Amino acid sequence: MAGQTNRQVVLKNRPTGMIDGSTTEVVESTVPELEDGQALVAVRYLSIDATIRTWMDDAPGYLPPIGIGEVIRSGGSGEVIESKSDRYQVGDIVSGLTGWQEYAIADEGMGSMSKMPEGIDVAGAMNVLGSTGVTAWVGMHEIGHVKPGDVVVVSGAAGATGSTAGQVAKAAGAAKVIGIAGGPEKCAFVVDVLGFDEAIDYKNESVGRRLHELCPDGVDLYYDNVGGEILDKVLANLAMNGRIVLCGAISGYNAGDNVYGLKNYFNLIIRRGTMQGFIVLDHFAQWTEIQAKLAELMAEDKLTHVEHIVEGVEHAPDALNLLFTGGNTGKVLVKVS
Ligand code: NAP
Repeated sequence: MAGQTNRQVVLKNRPTGMIDGSTTEVVESTVPELEDGQALVAVRYLSIDATIRTWMDDAPGYLPPIGIGEVIRSGGSGEVIESKSDRYQVGDIVSGLTGWQEYAIADEGMGSMSKMPEGIDVAGAMNVLGSTGVTAWVGMHEIGHVKPGDVVVVSGAAGATGSTAGQVAKAAGAAKVIGIAGGPEKCAFVVDVLGFDEAIDYKNESVGRRLHELCPDGVDLYYDNVGGEILDKVLANLAMNGRIVLCGAISGYNAGDNVYGLKNYFNLIIRRGTMQGFIVLDHFAQWTEIQAKLAELMAEDKLTHVEHIVEGVEHAPDALNLLFTGGNTGKVLVKVS
């Protein structure tokens, strides 16, 4: 397959807000000859994650910024179509950092891709059993220490991470799980399909007032995906010894220097609360164990998952923007081939 054309989406200019037509470009390269220990992967799905937007900024982060002209870094999965490696056989389905491109190299020296079990629903597995599901589990259990009886609030509740996080809390015995999402359809989805107890439509309701009504004794555990004003409203409603898990702050990713300033953080002092951030990559050692727990929840019908599929590698930038416009319900994946 060496010599095959590989369509790739590369970073052309660093964005200042939402990404647009000038941020990325599609280029064609040629698939190189494999070296010993390498395999060629035909990419099937790309995992579209909000953090990809942060990697486009020339700013310090938990991974280096994507360089101008480089393929956009991204998780993905695909099929091994040629191999000079003992680890990867032709026909294997693998997942790892594929990047936004049609063909990727799996290199056994770098351990860059891992095999997925045979016969698995690949799209579903990239959602709940991939980094999204593991993030939700780590945030709820390892950082938030969810326990029976907790009143739990999750923002971004109709999105990939939030939808799983709320269900994980419910399965752990939380007394009440409240999702915050934008619009009546998403709120209905959160309650009727995902089984949360309540939902707050932050686009049409007062989050502060609804939190008072639904959590008269305050919020024990808040799983934050969005930051900004919604985090501030929850801070104002924190229960004694309340915990806040900072998973993400998507409301600020396009804001540059204009990130919302919290007004109620001192409530952490008054309520003896904690607020802790985490990066899922730090929990790599627990990955397999957590995947098994998530698979168990799926087998017990306690974990519903929904994928929002966009077709074509060239549409990966539009797919990423869905996360910022709220155009997605569930996990956004790009189907490459
Ligand atoms: P997602 O939740 O599927 O999509 C993002 C959702 O955020 C959108 O659907 C939108 O829903 C909501 N949103 C966008 N702008 C908003 C705003 N200004 N205010 C309130 N809500 C807004 O995306 P995801 O990939 O699962 O990521 C969710 C969060 O988890 C992100 O912050 C991401 O960075 C974080 N994350 C962290 C880790 C980690 O290791 N810490 C790992 C994975 C993901 P509405 O329509 O409801 O507004």
